[in-house]
Amino acid sequence: MISGKNYIGDKLSSNSSITFKTFNPLINIENDILFFEASDSEIKKATKIASEAFRYYKQVSAKDRARFLVQISDELSLISDDIVKIYCKETGLPEARCLGELGRTMNQLKSFANLLLEGSFQEISIDTPIPDRKPISKPDLRKMLMPIGPVVVFGASNFPLAYSTAGGDTASALAAGCPVILKSHPMHAGTGELVSAAIIRAAKKTNMPNGVFSNLNSKGIEVGVKLVNSPDIKAVGFTGSLKGGRAIYDLASKRNHPIPVFAEMGSVNPVLIFPKKLEKEYDELAKKFAKSITIGSGQFCTNPGLIISFESDTFDLFINKLVKEIEQISPSCMLHPNIHSAYNSGIQKINKNKNVTKLTNDKTKPEINLPTHVISSVSAKKFVEDKSLQNEIFGPCSLIVKCKNTDELHEVIESFEGQLTGTILAESNDTYLTQKIIDALELKVGRIIFNGVPTGVEVCPSMTHGGPYPASTDSRFTAVGTNSIKRWLRPVSFQDFPQNLLPDELKDNNPLNIVRSIDGIVK
Ligand code: NAP
Repeated sequence: MISGKNYIGDKLSSNSSITFKTFNPLINIENDILFFEASDSEIKKATKIASEAFRYYKQVSAKDRARFLVQISDELSLISDDIVKIYCKETGLPEARCLGELGRTMNQLKSFANLLLEGSFQEISIDTPIPDRKPISKPDLRKMLMPIGPVVVFGASNFPLAYSTAGGDTASALAAGCPVILKSHPMHAGTGELVSAAIIRAAKKTNMPNGVFSNLNSKGIEVGVKLVNSPDIKAVGFTGSLKGGRAIYDLASKRNHPIPVFAEMGSVNPVLIFPKKLEKEYDELAKKFAKSITIGSGQFCTNPGLIISFESDTFDLFINKLVKEIEQISPSCMLHPNIHSAYNSGIQKINKNKNVTKLTNDKTKPEINLPTHVISSVSAKKFVEDKSLQNEIFGPCSLIVKCKNTDELHEVIESFEGQLTGTILAESNDTYLTQKIIDALELKVGRIIFNGVPTGVEVCPSMTHGGPYPASTDSRFTAVGTNSIKRWLRPVSFQDFPQNLLPDELKDNNPLNIVRSIDGIVK
């Protein structure tokens, strides 16, 4: 049963008079459960017990943390039917999407558990001493990555499972040894509570300290602001808009003790199509990209929002086919009326831009919370001049950019803001695809895709889901895949410590049997 209350550690709590309901976008009515926003005292309690829990949780062995993560996955599997019911009511997304996302969430938890057992994420290095080194002796130095402290995670609206309550940010922080306070996304607070209950059950069954996880509801930004300002909080994970991510980043930097904010924000994910590929496959490419632009109603951070090529008859054939294809795909419900109206206002802005030509027809009157699929086009020259054309429009639309020559293509790439992805569609021997183009694109993105679509983010160690600002606030880190654990770890060196006082990871006899670098040699 969903209570609408906050989880302050393992206790359900509701002492605020501020309440809200989630919304069913499919039938355009509020759902009936009443949720209670977290009060100031609940926020304070959650941060205090997270800080207390950290002292114990950071000592919990990697093996036991792995058990905790696997137990969360098992608990989620037991309540999958209940999750599906509320997830669909709160998002308008179909059951298949819910089950796919749930499977991904459970696999993420398990992949972090495997990482913990393997141990290399701690990047242990040991430099043995040289007492008789001249002119000064070299000390014994041993370094490992250690958890940073309690983390606030802002649940993402577009991934109620995989990037919310028990999603990638939470799984990676718990794996690192950091307690998590989840700032639940108000659009799917019910899904969030069910998942939170599963985490709490798993924590109890595996003897984790109370406060290792809390789930706080909110109707507006105040709860998030107070959490980010709490001195007990040591880092923040965020997925959402540039406006929200930037505001949280600025808040965190203005604290007396600034903390890192790992925000994954907007991206338009440019796609460059080269002539030989276009000539060979324009028809299939148009079909493929019509699907990629509209999948999940375009509500993916990797949605291909820009498609760029050279003016040519074949490019026109591609564009006509893309328009035809996308007009034929039935629109699917957006997550929430607010996201739908943000999409509509983005589309209106682009339609009013005198340099942009709208290519799709609104054949049918859009129904409530259903978007119109939109393809527009602009010249490379005007695209470079008008930075507003790079603003993310979160939904099923894409802007075509037409270049006259390779110089213009290069200028277009140079003008890009930081992006999560950049895609190249080409034959490898296409003379237009120069190293200069690849180098320019590489500087702007976190992931370069060759002959694929940017939607679909694999969860594995080699994935980079991040990129130069504004795609993320710190391009050195990924938000997806096991390497995302690095966001919640900091290096600590132990100098000249006696063996019995060292963490097990750094002891000479390597009792945990983990991979370590000793005097520069990995053993
Ligand atoms: P959002 O507005 O950025 O909000 C995300 C979370 O951050 C919410 O929990 C929100 O709290 C909180 N928040 C926002 N501004 C804040 C501030 N100034 N201080 C403290 N907390 C703040 O994103 P959204 O609600 O998910 O969707 C809105 C728009 O964001 C979409 O239309 C889309 O343009 C964009 N978006 C982008 C991505 C992406 O991956 N690129 C993903 C999702 C959304 P409250 O909701 O309680 O106010």
